[in-house]
Amino acid sequence: MDLFKRKSEEPAEGGPVSDRMALARQWQEQAKQMQAQAMQVQAQAMQQAAALQHGTAQGAQAGSTAQVGSMTWARQVLAILAPPQPGYVKRCSCAVCGAPKKLPTVTAYVYCDYCASLIDYDLRRAGEGDTAPDPAYAATVNSTQAAARQAAAAGDRDAYRGLQRQVFEAYVTGVPMAVSHRARNDRGYRDAYVAYMAEAATACAFDPAYQALESEMRQRVMGLQYSGNMMSPTVAPDSFWPMVDTMEKQIAASTVLYRSAGLADLDPDHAEYLTGKLGWSGFCQGWLGMLPAEAATQLLDRADLTNEYVPVEAADGQPRHCGGCGAEFSALPGATAIICEGCGRRMDLGSAEIPCASCGAVMTLPAGADRTACPFCQSQVERAGLR
Ligand SMILES: [Zn+2]
Ligand SMILES: [Zn+2]
Ligand SMILES: [Zn+2]
Repeated sequence: MDLFKRKSEEPAEGGPVSDRMALARQWQEQAKQMQAQAMQVQAQAMQQAAALQHGTAQGAQAGSTAQVGSMTWARQVLAILAPPQPGYVKRCSCAVCGAPKKLPTVTAYVYCDYCASLIDYDLRRAGEGDTAPDPAYAATVNSTQAAARQAAAAGDRDAYRGLQRQVFEAYVTGVPMAVSHRARNDRGYRDAYVAYMAEAATACAFDPAYQALESEMRQRVMGLQYSGNMMSPTVAPDSFWPMVDTMEKQIAASTVLYRSAGLADLDPDHAEYLTGKLGWSGFCQGWLGMLPAEAATQLLDRADLTNEYVPVEAADGQPRHCGGCGAEFSALPGATAIICEGCGRRMDLGSAEIPCASCGAVMTLPAGADRTACPFCQSQVERAGLR
C-alpha cells in the first residue's frame, strides 16, 4: 500500500536523467504490483464464475482479494445493476407451465408462482448479497486442493467426486447467497444440490476438451490489459472480448457435457435451460466491475442478462402463511405449489391451511412434512388426520 505514499516523493518532470530512470523503474515496479493485484482479483472472480457454472471450485482464496472484488462490485456495478424498485418483478415466464411471473422475489433465484419450478435468474438481485467468501469454505477448498489434483491425475473419479462433495457442502453453508434459497431449510434439496454440483465438477475435470478450454481461459486472462489504479483496475475491452469468446465456448461445452453425463436428472431444480445463464451470471459478477460502463452493458446484452421489470400482481391471490417460517405469501388462483420467499421451503397448495391448536394461527405445511413447529408459538402442528 506504500505505492501511493511514494508518489509525493517523485522528482519533478525534467529532472536529471538518473532521476527519470529511477522514476521509470518505480513506475515499472508499480505496474507489476498492479498487475499482480489485478490477477488476484481475477482469480477470485474466476473462482466465483467456475463455482456458479458448476465447474470446479478449486482455486478459491479467502481474504483481502475477495473484499477488493466486493468493493469493486459495489462501487461500479450497482450503477448498471441497481436492484429493482420494490413492487416490481423480473419479466419472465415459467418454462414448465408457461405462467408469467407475478409475485415479488427476494433472491436472484426466480421461482414460478404456480408450479414452484425455477424459471429464471435475476442478476440485479445477486449483487445485493455480495460478501466475501466464508473462511471455512476457503479452508475446505485449500485443504482438498492437492488431493483433488492427485485424484484427477490418477483418473480416480470417485475420490475426486468425494472431495468435491466436501467442497460444495462447505459452499452451501459458507456462501448461502450464491445458491438458491431452497438450500437454506430443505435438507433434501440441499443434499441433492451438493451431489449435483460435485458430479458436474467431476464431469468437467475428467473431460479433456473442457480442460483444454480451461487452459485457453487461463491464457486469455494472462492477455488482459489494465488501466486505472490498483484498487480499482479497469480491463481494456479489446483484451476482454477474446475471453468472452472462450467463455461462450465453455458454456456450450458444459451444456453438452452435462447432457451426456445425465446431470439434468441430478439437478434438484431440473432447470437445464438455465445452466448457460447461471454460468454467464457468475462470469458477469466477476468481471462487470472491472469494465468501462459501455463494455459492461455490451457484456450483459451478450449474456442475455439484461432485465425488464413488471409490476407485481398479487391482487387476486389468497393470503397464506408458511408453516416453516411464518411468512405470508399469496396463493394465486390455479397455483399448485410455490417456494416460500422467506425460507425457501416448497409449499403444496393442494390442501387447506391448518390451524395451530395453541395460538390459532393458520398455516400451510411445507411439502412432504407431516408436522411443523408453529412458527408463531413453537407448538407442534400436525397435518389433519394424523392423530
Ligand atoms: Zn410454472
Ligand atoms: Zn417460509
Ligand atoms: Zn401456534
